[in-house]
Amino acid sequence: MQKIQMNVPLVEMDGDEMTRIIWQMIKEDLILPFIDLKSEYYDLGLKYRDKTDDKVTYDAAYAIKKYGVGVKCATITPNAQRVEEYDLKEMYKSPNGTIRAILDGTVFRAPILVKGINPSVRSWKKPITIARHAYGDVYRDTEYKVPANSKFEMVITTDGKETRLPVFEFEGGGIAQSMYNTDKSISSFARSCFNYALDTKQDLWFATKDTISKIYDHTFKDIFQEIYDEEYAPQFEAAGIEYFYTLIDDAVARVIRSEGGYIWACKNYDGDVMSDMVATAYGSLAMMTSVLVSPEGNYEYEAAHGTVTRHYYRHLEGDDTSTNSMATIFAWSGALRKRGEIDGIDALIKYADELERASIATIEEGTMTKDLALLTEVENVNVVNTGNFIKEVAKRIKVAW
Ligand code: NAP
Ligand code: MG
Repeated sequence: MQKIQMNVPLVEMDGDEMTRIIWQMIKEDLILPFIDLKSEYYDLGLKYRDKTDDKVTYDAAYAIKKYGVGVKCATITPNAQRVEEYDLKEMYKSPNGTIRAILDGTVFRAPILVKGINPSVRSWKKPITIARHAYGDVYRDTEYKVPANSKFEMVITTDGKETRLPVFEFEGGGIAQSMYNTDKSISSFARSCFNYALDTKQDLWFATKDTISKIYDHTFKDIFQEIYDEEYAPQFEAAGIEYFYTLIDDAVARVIRSEGGYIWACKNYDGDVMSDMVATAYGSLAMMTSVLVSPEGNYEYEAAHGTVTRHYYRHLEGDDTSTNSMATIFAWSGALRKRGEIDGIDALIKYADELERASIATIEEGTMTKDLALLTEVENVNVVNTGNFIKEVAKRIKVAW
């Protein structure tokens, strides 16, 4: 059988620990036998990041800007303990943070649904994709513990001219907080969400508390609406999808009653909270995919989970591991499908579909890793180790492909 040919390289970013091992297995068993893989390889493993003073992370991000599509393995974000463990020259920033800052993107997280692993919310039949605005608000706030007998004012200086707004007069002690966002960042967020909704043909929901926050939150609502009306409304109509705005509390109630099958755009804090709720309700972090979409239309696919350190240490001891590779497999299928769409290579799109079908079928037929075996309603489960799960998927592809 002839391997699928590619024209433009995929930006491949290798990573750390257990996911680095899974990465190799996926390539060997699920990618290379079927595709003549054209990738530009960047080793974001912590050792090589240290060797290059983290330059490799920047190079990878610019390569995504150049080629449009990347696939990334989970990576260690170093803390003090990692600096010691890896004898690092410095405590490098999170690679995801660096890449996000360069691409100016929005992260979309969606669960992989399989029969037999049912969401805790009974009405959910389809995935709910959360888009979190990862800039500003309380994550870049200024806070102050206010002593008694204090006056709290907000001062904005515009071209040397002061605007002074009274906030509160404290008799006793208290706390104060100020925060900000920018029209530019909100607009980028809005465009990323509208583009991704069109891309995946799903409705887009957005919610804030604009009735209470009449300037701050209302500006988010207004920017989304203006961009929708001016740039996206006809395309949404043509695609048969909807942009829907409501208040955040109403949105939460509707989400719980819904069937799923839409993108939920959230302000930074809402997205932080709601993505953990949604992920947990769907079952497992190991089944959560993640894609960074830039307003320019660059895509970076990855698993939402980390490097699964605990399993890696067991692997190093020579113990068998049963680590779930689904989210990393779907990072590869997402990136290959997008490469196929951009370059007009149908076979690549078909192979991405087949890779996902075979992975889901493997679980639905009862072969799964330990984390899922604990959640499933499927009976007579065949619990497999990390490598054998991937081999089981490969077996099913070989039959069908
Ligand atoms: P983690 O790697 O996501 O793992 C946390 C726990 O969740 C694991 O110990 C395991 O539980 C379970 N788990 C996660 N993924 C799994 C999978 N694929 N299969 C089976 N079980 C899975 O998070 P962490 O331990 O907090 O972080 C480890 C490292 O990853 C850190 O160095 C962190 O910086 C990095 N990290 C990277 C990214 C990224 O690159 N996107 C994201 C998050 C964290 P049990 O041990 O109970 O089986
Ligand atoms: Mg969180």
